[in-house]
Amino acid sequence: MCTPNNPTGSVVPASAADAFIAAVPADVLIVWDEAYAEFVADPDAADGVRLAARYPNVVAVRTFSKAFGLAGLRLGYAVGEAALIDAVRRVQTPFAVSDAAVAAGLACLEPETAATIERNVATIVAERRRVRDALRDLGFTVDESHGNFVWLPLDDPLDWAAQCADLGVLVRGYPDAGVRVTIATSLENDQFLTVAAKLARH
Ligand SMILES: *Cc1c(COP(=O)(O)O)cnc(C)c1O
Repeated sequence: MCTPNNPTGSVVPASAADAFIAAVPADVLIVWDEAYAEFVADPDAADGVRLAARYPNVVAVRTFSKAFGLAGLRLGYAVGEAALIDAVRRVQTPFAVSDAAVAAGLACLEPETAATIERNVATIVAERRRVRDALRDLGFTVDESHGNFVWLPLDDPLDWAAQCADLGVLVRGYPDAGVRVTIATSLENDQFLTVAAKLARH
């Protein structure tokens, strides 16, 4: 279960999470993929770590690649029952996590760094809302996203993405679905919105 979902940014509400888990046999492992957990701004969203504490067949996985910006260091973590985590450890590649990655991860959790990261996340969430509202003003249908991106459902996403690229902005097109636009700096987001406004007029 990918929540927030990539590429749409939708989240599973807590009530739906309980219903889903109840419908899955207890001997089936449910992996709650929360790569974008830090960007969630919905109090009703399910929290995988809490679910993992309540259900022995749920494991929550999170990453330092997104909100913490450490994708190149390959660091993440899983939260689940001790027996489950132990089983994962037994089959894990030895030394899969480097000392440098651990040092960087721990540094992220220092209060001063954590506060900086929290501010960065808040800025991205605010920009995400600004981009969403601007796109709606341009006439696009945009659902709420809880990732560090917005999702635009479109009829011809690959063509739209190619036109964006021609105008100097790279977005990711998903065939027959839409485009995902990563939230960047305020200036870069404005550059995207300028392109979106041009394409909206066609
Ligand atoms: C980025 C991402 C991950 C984790 O990526 P790593 O860099 O391998 O930690 C997991 N799931 C989704 C949906 C992602 O977007």
